[in-house]
Amino acid sequence: MRQQLARRSTVLLDRVLRSTPWRLVPGRERRFALQVRTARLLRWVQRRQEARIDTTLAGRALLAVEPDAVGRMAARLPEGVVAVSATNGKTTTVNLLAGVLEAAGRPPVVNRLGENQAPGVAVELAAAARRGRRLAGSIGVFEVDELSLPALVPQLRPRVLVLGNLFRDQLDRAGELDTVAARWAAMLADCEPDTAIVLCADDPRVSSLAPDRPGVVRFGVRPPAGHHGRLAESADPPACARCGAELCYDAVLVGHLGHHRCPSCGAARPQPEVEATDVVLHGLAGSDLVLRTPDGSVALRLAVPGLYNVYNAVAAGAAAWALGVPLDGVAQGMAATRPSFGRAEGLTVGRTPVRLLLTKNPTGMNEVLRLLTAEAAGRALDVLFLLNDRDLDGRDVSWIWDADVEDVVPVLRHATCGGSRATSLAVRLKYAGVDPSHIDVSPPVAEALEAAMASAPGELFVVSNYSAMLELRELVAEQGHAPRFWR
Ligand SMILES: [Zn+2]
Repeated sequence: MRQQLARRSTVLLDRVLRSTPWRLVPGRERRFALQVRTARLLRWVQRRQEARIDTTLAGRALLAVEPDAVGRMAARLPEGVVAVSATNGKTTTVNLLAGVLEAAGRPPVVNRLGENQAPGVAVELAAAARRGRRLAGSIGVFEVDELSLPALVPQLRPRVLVLGNLFRDQLDRAGELDTVAARWAAMLADCEPDTAIVLCADDPRVSSLAPDRPGVVRFGVRPPAGHHGRLAESADPPACARCGAELCYDAVLVGHLGHHRCPSCGAARPQPEVEATDVVLHGLAGSDLVLRTPDGSVALRLAVPGLYNVYNAVAAGAAAWALGVPLDGVAQGMAATRPSFGRAEGLTVGRTPVRLLLTKNPTGMNEVLRLLTAEAAGRALDVLFLLNDRDLDGRDVSWIWDADVEDVVPVLRHATCGGSRATSLAVRLKYAGVDPSHIDVSPPVAEALEAAMASAPGELFVVSNYSAMLELRELVAEQGHAPRFWR
């Protein structure tokens, strides 16, 4: 009944927003305020509808009647906007930076749920709109999809623009990495001179962007003691931006991120202004590092695990430094930030401790498997693998063949495969060398979870892509084991 009402109201409000003859409402400001208020209401109603966390409908409707909505609302943020883009780690980077700004008493408006195209940003801004021209926040912190970024930057006019890694991801959508990098380069050439550009020094495609722009801040990571990274088979190291020769690496950290140089022309990874040093990884429990900036260094403790999250922390740290946040504030804010949805989030379902590990592409998967292998430390692990092929995930799931699944086989005790592509996963595991008698297949996520818990005597690890993780997360929330994260 309530669900039905919510569904009907959603349709009605969408229609009201899109088909009201708004030109009859006098006054441009007044008209816009009414449109924003309708979008807010639509978002609110939609969030009360089943497992709808996709509230971008409200953003799409608002942009249909007011295409400049993002720019108009973003301009009202007194401290401006930080925009963050990368293939992997946007959500965690934004989450960490938001934590730092909150702790510093600078409340941010954030798109926390990974709705990172124009409608997602519009709907978060609309949700933050208050009476008059005020917003419930002083600064915007938005993750933006790699391909949407060039169109959104002129609207957001970011004060700080953070560009992280470019990995292979949903190739059917994102296109070739070099194409994305070329679009970013064109965007940076047109970028306002007062935008602070923050670039990943360790990704050759990104560090070579904006070579002539003064004041660019670069961030990087020094390898932890005893770290022996190798270029994964799925890694896509670019050619040297200057001469086209194959790059070589003095250290590989994540995928093709690392300390790169060109043996042919001598081009090298630029010395980063902001760097993570003295990195100590504590498995799934998090990491310690020292954040070195031009204004001094500070020790950071992270609740998010793995080297890939060290990159996210140093990206957030570089942005915070560009915003003038004092270093002790950065440390305090990061220590207080919990993992965001599905990113090594720990839950207890019934009596089973469950750890959720989101992964969407080969590089992400390799990092998650690396964490699991380290976490095992002699014990054998029970893992629930979930794979969907919805629009949200990209229809092409062949990337699982590019991930180094073989690495985790020695520490697997039992694997359960679920999601709409459960069978593909099971085949992948079998080819990686898992004994088929140790693999269960049950596509419905609820059944897969139940089967996995029944066969796990202790902790259960869930490795899942996006929409399957949403399903699982909603399921355990329904059962009362976890709060709904989007309310
Ligand atoms: Zn070269």
